[in-house]
Amino acid sequence: MRAPAIRWVEQDQHAGPTTAHYPGRDGGTMMASKKDEQRSFRRLLAVEPGSKVDLGEFDAGETFGRDKDAAEADLGKILARLADLQSRLWAEAKHRVLVVMQGIDAAGKDGTIQVIAGAFNPQGTPVTSFKVPSPIEQAHDYLWRVHQRIPGKGEIGIFNRSHYEEVLVVRVHELVPEERWRKRYGHVRDFERMLTDEGVTILKFFLAIDRDEQRQRFQERVDDPAKRWKFSFGDLEERKRWDDYRAAFEEMLEETSTKYAPWYLVPANRNWLRNLAVGEILADTLDDLKPAYPPAEEGAEGVKVE
Ligand code: AMP
Ligand code: MG
Repeated sequence: MRAPAIRWVEQDQHAGPTTAHYPGRDGGTMMASKKDEQRSFRRLLAVEPGSKVDLGEFDAGETFGRDKDAAEADLGKILARLADLQSRLWAEAKHRVLVVMQGIDAAGKDGTIQVIAGAFNPQGTPVTSFKVPSPIEQAHDYLWRVHQRIPGKGEIGIFNRSHYEEVLVVRVHELVPEERWRKRYGHVRDFERMLTDEGVTILKFFLAIDRDEQRQRFQERVDDPAKRWKFSFGDLEERKRWDDYRAAFEEMLEETSTKYAPWYLVPANRNWLRNLAVGEILADTLDDLKPAYPPAEEGAEGVKVE
């Protein structure tokens, strides 16, 4: 039996800890898959504040007993829910929602955004891809460029990479000294606390693939002429630092998963499972906001337009 990658505990404080982890690919015994199906991805994948994360033990190919054949129909329902929720959120112009996507190269950040944001009206769902900071960005503090992209009222803002690069690539490549990047966990917790206090709903997805899955995906990029543009030799250099990234990801998840801005650790070897998980978690979170269309003008109902 595999050791738990993280201590999976119920988000409901009153329920107390569960009996630990879900079954691995080898058919671990802690929970029947049927029971898993009844559990929401939000509960299954949330990284509890204060928990230890061991990505080496995490099964990125986990399916939670879900069925690939049924996944397409399930995803269709989730996308329909998302479309309805986003339409209300946009009309109401009250809530602000920030979705953060992180993951190693080829983890599927772009693919997930394509599928999930595909359900939305683009006007209300700005996507920001964070690249190597420009000279003007580098001339400012590291949250400067991030703060400007925080969604406004009615918007669902999606970050493809984020301020978390400041404790990931920056750490792995020693772009700033440790004594500086180490303070950033605290800065980021405070920044996200301020945002949530001011009415932003934050949810963060870490897409976990394993090393062999990354190899296959890079190979596919090389082999497929339509994907070759995505391949870079730099990716191979980064791949050599797999273990350094792993340590950086683990500490990021441990240090910055909070009740108010939780990380969800998503098994992402299988795209269909990843899409279901991210879609469901986002839909459930939007549901909690109960977005509603604004009331019509007095007397509008039944008006005959000449
Ligand atoms: P991609 O996501 O493939 O378009 O690549 C974007 C690149 O920008 C990645 O290699 C990131 O590591 C890099 N990047 C993003 N944010 C930062 C940052 N704050 N500092 C340094 N590099 C970054
Ligand atoms: Mg890339």
